[in-house]
Amino acid sequence: MTKPLWAPWRLEYVGSADEQAGCIFCTAREGGDEDGFVVRRAAQAFVLLNKFPYASGHMMVAPLRHVGELAELDNEEVLEVHRLAGQGMGALASVYRPQGYNLGWNLGRTAGAGITDHVHLHLVPRWAGDTNFMPVLADVKVLPEHLVETRRKLAEAWPS
Ligand SMILES: [Zn+2]
Repeated sequence: MTKPLWAPWRLEYVGSADEQAGCIFCTAREGGDEDGFVVRRAAQAFVLLNKFPYASGHMMVAPLRHVGELAELDNEEVLEVHRLAGQGMGALASVYRPQGYNLGWNLGRTAGAGITDHVHLHLVPRWAGDTNFMPVLADVKVLPEHLVETRRKLAEAWPS
C-alpha cells in the first residue's frame, strides 16, 4: 500500500474533475504546454503527462484528432504515436533511468480507461521492485515530484 502524500496537483485535479467540461486531450492540445502538462507536440500527435501518474514520468501519447476507436486512426497517426512513444522512452532514460517500460492502450472503461472517447497510449517507466503491471493500471500512486518539474525535465531531455 502506498501512504498518502501531499500532492497539490492531484487535489486540484480531483477538485475540478467533475466540473471539467470536454476532453482533457483536446483541452491540452488547445492550451499551453505548462497548463496541459504537454511534453512534446508533433504534426499528428502529442505527448502529455498523466495527472494520475503510476510512476514518475508516466506519459500519454494521443493523436491530435479526437478519435475514440483505435481502428479510426490513419497510418500517419499510428506511426507518429508510436514514434513519440519511442522518443519518450529516450527522454525517460536520460532523466529517470528506468529499467523497463510498459506501453498500453486502455480501451473502454472496463479496461481501465478514464477517458474513453479520445484514444491514448500510456507510457509507464518501470523499476525492479515496483508494483506489478495490473495494480499499476488499476490504482493510483501519489508521487513526491511535482508534475511541473517532471514536464520541464522530460521536455528538455526529448531526443531531437
Ligand atoms: Zn479529445
